[in-house]
Amino acid sequence: MKAVVKARPEPGVEVREVETPATGPGDVLIRVKAASICGSDLGIYDFTPAYSGMALPVVMGHEFSGVVEAIGEGVGDFAVGDRVLSRSVVSCGECRFCLEGMDNLCESSSLFGIHQDGGFAEYVSVPQGLLYPIPGGMSFEEAALVEPLSNAVHFVNDLTPVEPGDLAVVLGIGPIGLFSAQLLRLAGAEVLVTGISMDTERFKIADKLGLEAVNVDDVDPVELVMERTSGRGADVAFVAVGAPSAVHQAVRLVRKRGHVTIVGIFPGDVAVPMTTVVRREITLAGAYDARAENFEASIELIESGRVEAAELATHRFPLEEAERAFEVARSKAGCKVLFVP
Ligand SMILES: [Zn+2]
Ligand SMILES: [Zn+2]
Repeated sequence: MKAVVKARPEPGVEVREVETPATGPGDVLIRVKAASICGSDLGIYDFTPAYSGMALPVVMGHEFSGVVEAIGEGVGDFAVGDRVLSRSVVSCGECRFCLEGMDNLCESSSLFGIHQDGGFAEYVSVPQGLLYPIPGGMSFEEAALVEPLSNAVHFVNDLTPVEPGDLAVVLGIGPIGLFSAQLLRLAGAEVLVTGISMDTERFKIADKLGLEAVNVDDVDPVELVMERTSGRGADVAFVAVGAPSAVHQAVRLVRKRGHVTIVGIFPGDVAVPMTTVVRREITLAGAYDARAENFEASIELIESGRVEAAELATHRFPLEEAERAFEVARSKAGCKVLFVP
């Protein structure tokens, strides 16, 4: 089968013929219909230090959906022809984090596309426990976007204290920023999203979603927020981009006792104005990946139409055009770039 493979410890990817995965006991073989490129895939493409420990060679991709092609011994929940989407992390189920429902922090987890073969391929084999049926009205593309939305659900609903009427500022207008902004709005917050000049297409999507967004190359977000709150500051800041400047802005624009959730992956260490954090009693919180139960919530949010996902899918490529797909994803010319094998 055809697959997008990270083969060597250097920048780049390869489109290769690889063996179709075996369907072991308890496994489901999926014919992939849609698989989206994540920010982390760009880091894998570049082979940044954050991914130096990954297995090579590996078929990339952890956000995917498709149709059941074959089932392994003992699979009872799914049948050939079923439409399915998958979680992205195989957790151990036994460590203290798994036992406490924090499987995103599992001590010995394995991620598709990093530690084991993922979904940028014609087929991918997945343990049945990670799969969910795709509801009738949901497209394969929306189903692939359940994974990134589930991350946003964890970041916002589990880890960001937000009250109706709060002002929440989302720094970063990529897929996670746009999903998180929708969730903060659902929680009753007034939401302001920030992007930069190269985010032109993403500003258009924000507009379609009815989200207020400003370009920080034109407007100082700290001044804007202080003006709007008579110098008090925003209740919540949400850093959905791996840019050190966004962390600075977040710390400077939240109120005393304000909360900053940080989900970006940064190129290196970030200097934080810590005296401001201390004197204003600001909480800085990291948030990573998603828990199993965030997937169910995420499926329901898309199915009910309370979160818009389809608008975020802007580009589609066959596997053969992986190089071009990564180029578009990196250029931020759109929002979500998908493979349609
Ligand atoms: Zn992802
Ligand atoms: Zn575990």
